Amino acid sequence: MGFDPVAGNDERPCPVCGARAADTLHHRRFVLPDGHPLADGYSVVSCRDCGGAYATPLPPQEAYDRFYRDDSKYADLATGTGSGAQSWDDQRLNETACTIAAMTADRTAHIVDIGCGAGGLLRRLAALGFSNLTGIDPAPACAAVTSAIAGVRGEIGSFSSLPQLSKPAEFVVLSHVLEHVRDVGGAIDAIRAIMSASGRVYAEVPDAARYADFLVAPFLDFNTEHINHFSESTLRHLFTSHGWRVLDSGTKTIASSPVARYPCAWILAEAVDPMPAVLREPDRILRLELERYIAASEALLARVTDRCVALDIPGRDVIVWGTGQTTAILLADTPLATAQIRAFTDSNPIYFGRTIAGVGVVRPDELRAMPDLPIVIGSLLHGAEIAATISAHGLTNPVLRLDPYAP
Ligand SMILES: [Zn+2]
Repeated sequence: MGFDPVAGNDERPCPVCGARAADTLHHRRFVLPDGHPLADGYSVVSCRDCGGAYATPLPPQEAYDRFYRDDSKYADLATGTGSGAQSWDDQRLNETACTIAAMTADRTAHIVDIGCGAGGLLRRLAALGFSNLTGIDPAPACAAVTSAIAGVRGEIGSFSSLPQLSKPAEFVVLSHVLEHVRDVGGAIDAIRAIMSASGRVYAEVPDAARYADFLVAPFLDFNTEHINHFSESTLRHLFTSHGWRVLDSGTKTIASSPVARYPCAWILAEAVDPMPAVLREPDRILRLELERYIAASEALLARVTDRCVALDIPGRDVIVWGTGQTTAILLADTPLATAQIRAFTDSNPIYFGRTIAGVGVVRPDELRAMPDLPIVIGSLLHGAEIAATISAHGLTNPVLRLDPYAP
């Protein structure tokens, strides 16, 4: 399947500064579940004016609204990050809650978590004594799960249609949200409209300037959902150019699996009026770091390709465990695409009954009917966990891991 950069998708301006002149760093392709609303390919580009990095062209905003409403993987408590059902994820949420608590002494302040997923962060804030908590998420299932948490209100909404709040937000949390947003400027302007005059926002995003230092799976940071690649510097640039005062910012790492960590950048900002004149320094480092990440991803992809060949995967009858972001990339760029894939499966039920390249996605228990077929694990980040899950299901199929460092 060839990369088609037009196909009904629109070129985006830079999400940081609004400029339209950019240099292409990488073309990315995905093999997605059939009927998936998001783009099966885009370019990652670097803005010539500010150094911001982003994906373009992309489907219209409605496609993203539909995806986060109907296909949200975050509603599944067992597998979706943000619920805190997994201990490593719960620890991450608790760390973020403690960070926010240190920034917000008033336990009665109205805190609004936009893109709250299953509400795990709000649950942790409630445990720290905060009494006025609202979560907003485009997925009705996420809003319902959040509402079920004691002391937390869950609302359905997205940046283009934020719900009417009973009281203005005094502190807005955007935790791993802005990298998913197509119209970033519109989103942070929309937040201002629901905030009190002295309101503040805490935003945390993946730190694209350090992707190369935390490489686990090739190009995993260039996935279908992450369409903006911020550094601490471009995050500051974004908020100051929209009339916010930056109170603090920094970088950190968080757990992204039981064994892996992930780099983040964060900012604490308050809305000011009128917009101040700010000297905006372009970020000239981010592009170089992304080029380093791309080269490292290409090298890792070559090793995964070698592993596919060593495991005799081309032409072989297999089952693929994993319908997520890494599988979408491996099917596009490695010999996994040339295997005779008889079925896909996943721990997350969102794609059960759907198809990928015409092959059905079945429940793990349905694999009992195919006991002799090897299961290829289509995730490098969660390979060990999935191998344990396969055992826990009582499946005795041979397991093939594509991680070059796996046993
Ligand atoms: Zn720019």
